[in-house]
Amino acid sequence: MSIEDSLVSTISGITYPFDRLEESAENGESLEVAIGNIESADVREGDHIWERFAAFLPFMDMQDRLSLGEGNTPLLHSQKLAGYTGIDQLLLKNESQNPTGSFKDRGSLACILMTNRMNEKVTATISTGNMGASIAAYAARAGMRSIIFIPSFCPEEKIRSMAIHGATIIKIDAPDYGVMKKKVLELAKKMKLRVVSGNGPIRVEGYKLTAFEMYEQMKGEVPDFIAVPTSACGHIRGIFKGYRELLDAGLTYKLPRMIIVQAANNSPLVSAWKNGARQPIPFADFETVAEAITSGNPMGGDEILDKAYKHNWLAESTTEDEILESQIVLAKAGFFVEPASATSLAAVRKLREAGKIKSDESVVLMLTASGLKDSGAFKYHNFTIHESTLETIEADVTTILGTD
Ligand SMILES: *Cc1c(COP(=O)(O)O)cnc(C)c1O
Repeated sequence: MSIEDSLVSTISGITYPFDRLEESAENGESLEVAIGNIESADVREGDHIWERFAAFLPFMDMQDRLSLGEGNTPLLHSQKLAGYTGIDQLLLKNESQNPTGSFKDRGSLACILMTNRMNEKVTATISTGNMGASIAAYAARAGMRSIIFIPSFCPEEKIRSMAIHGATIIKIDAPDYGVMKKKVLELAKKMKLRVVSGNGPIRVEGYKLTAFEMYEQMKGEVPDFIAVPTSACGHIRGIFKGYRELLDAGLTYKLPRMIIVQAANNSPLVSAWKNGARQPIPFADFETVAEAITSGNPMGGDEILDKAYKHNWLAESTTEDEILESQIVLAKAGFFVEPASATSLAAVRKLREAGKIKSDESVVLMLTASGLKDSGAFKYHNFTIHESTLETIEADVTTILGTD
């Protein structure tokens, strides 16, 4: 941490000292780290991204022993998906390649580093699954206890991956995830248990590393658009913050336009944006296959809407059918992602059709997590599995290959 770093509330701009680490400001606004001397920040030599971009980060003491090798995820072009969306310069950032199978890992590394620095022995979170699985792994790596509060709709794959890392898991039977979250946060306050959220200032600093990675992968070019499936809002604001700081430091020449993507059944931000509203429109009692993006009324939503208007972002929602179709289309191009992650493909396809994205503009799709995390989604798809026996295999294979 350089001495000039501070915390700033993102709408009214109130400044706090960096050592007063909270998940959000007293007035409920998102908090972000203001990096001191960002105008003169430069890229350095180093094996790790956090070494090369140390001047952009509030943690100088990042340690190998806390890392699980997160990040460095591929940024790939797909001819097939370019054809499907009508966007020639379509790139896929495959976050399923992180240690716990989702983009959450860079943020968890940052959170655990801070917890470690503050000599706390316990870390807690509320999660629909991926964040909990990620925190559980990083806490195990650091030798720390993790406590994860999950809703009853959390997929078994995610629960078991928390459990195998030794997390204390508390599954809560609550009608609504938002209501559950509020209740747990009240309890945590009473018990003085620090609960890290999906949109806390330190987590967001971890997500910035994704922007720095893409800056390196694209050799200093900035994509026109970056589509991000959005729930608690930490990921989208972290990526954008990274690009904003690269611009402030004079290393790039423009900002990407972010695309807020949500499931139509739970689209507090996209609905607000389409109605010109400055506050999220709360959703409750909804169902969606995209269970990883289920914040019905995200705390940081007003900030994201504020930025969306200010910086001319786009927003699009996708129906359940579109999400499931996108999951198959992505898989048939080689990318197996969970339903929440598939939303962005359908969204950019629709935005291109509507002329909001031009055919020669570049778009990055954030493929936020692996398809192996939610096998519950398989029930919506029809697959043909051929059956055979050792006795009938020759005849069977001849028929199958002849007719398929
Ligand atoms: C957490 C998550 C998101 C949403 O990210 P936020 O930072 O909460 O907006 C999207 N997709 C997947 C798979 C996730 O796990």
